[in-house]
Amino acid sequence: MKKVLIVGAGFTGVVIARQLAEAGIASLVIDQRDHIGGNCHTERDDRTGIMLHKYGPHVFHTDDEEVWNLMNQYGEMMPYISRIKTTINGQVYALPINLHTMNQFFGTAMSPTEAQDYISTLAEDIPVPQNFEEQALSMVGRDLYEAFFQGYTEKQWGLSPTELPASILKRLPLRFNYNDNYFNHRYQGVPRDGYTALMTAMLDHPLIETRLECSYPLEDSTEYDHTFYSGPIDAYFRYRYGRLGYRTLDFETLYPTESDYQGCAQMNYGNADIPYTRITEHKHYAHWENHEKTVCYRETSRLAEEGDIPYYPIRLAQEKEQLSHYLHLANQERDVTFIGRLGTYRYLDMDVTIREALDCARAYLITANAVR
Ligand code: UDP
Repeated sequence: MKKVLIVGAGFTGVVIARQLAEAGIASLVIDQRDHIGGNCHTERDDRTGIMLHKYGPHVFHTDDEEVWNLMNQYGEMMPYISRIKTTINGQVYALPINLHTMNQFFGTAMSPTEAQDYISTLAEDIPVPQNFEEQALSMVGRDLYEAFFQGYTEKQWGLSPTELPASILKRLPLRFNYNDNYFNHRYQGVPRDGYTALMTAMLDHPLIETRLECSYPLEDSTEYDHTFYSGPIDAYFRYRYGRLGYRTLDFETLYPTESDYQGCAQMNYGNADIPYTRITEHKHYAHWENHEKTVCYRETSRLAEEGDIPYYPIRLAQEKEQLSHYLHLANQERDVTFIGRLGTYRYLDMDVTIREALDCARAYLITANAVR
């Protein structure tokens, strides 16, 4: 029996490979890059020794206990609470928007109830928000929307918030207390030795072979029992219905002379006339380490072109239509499962990616066992 082929060594591929290996099924994991980890890849910076999140910041957060336990089985998850700041018109505010943010923004000292009452006078009456802007206006009203969301979102997505789905904003909490934790999830942390070390431990099994700088398809791709494909779904079908739209990110590396450049891991920039969306200072993600020097990434977003790394699926009406054609083709591939952020063209957090990979591997094992 030939083994299973897994395309992509991000969380999706790595978790599936491990699940299959534990059940006695061998796999070959391939990735076209020269490292595993996908966009969660971490490596130490040569100049400072600081652990870099090479493709942008990744803080792990979940309510899924099994997923959290899995992370802890292969790495040591260090406590980390994401507390993000944003600079708007030369002032620094806390995100997500919470009571401190509101009191600072309006120059008030409102209690939670007072703030709720006040925001309800600002919030616009839009019963079923149809897009990002309507969602924001119905949540916080125009002033907060324009300051905190409009400029940032235009830079991040290259589109007017009236064209974007309301679901993007629903990722962010709004709080009428002083809790400035960016996430609502029960578990949150960052792996002590980085995501790549954690995924290396997952791949460390005699039934898993990993091949880097290896593109799909292989010469003998069709000879595998099954393929789990976590690459871009449109690339698999040779862009038959055109390229699906993605935003890509550019990172400008900064080596400030001071040892602490901005005092926090992530500083957003809400104003539209500042070209970058955020600056991340990587040493603050590893607060248990001591480093004299610092290194930051200044991040800008743009439309992905051929050869760029895809990050955020755009998913407007046009892309959804293209996607439906690709999903139709995908459903006809009997021995290939399309999975993960690129394989299904969805804006997925790490924990959801891992949950779906676990479920997918288990479903496969049930059918594989039935066939045996
Ligand atoms: N967002 C915003 N202002 C901010 C932070 C986020 O308008 O200061 C919007 C923006 O549209 C962004 C979305 O909220 O794409 C989701 O933000 P999140 O922090 O979850 O984005 P990620 O870290 O995944 O890029």
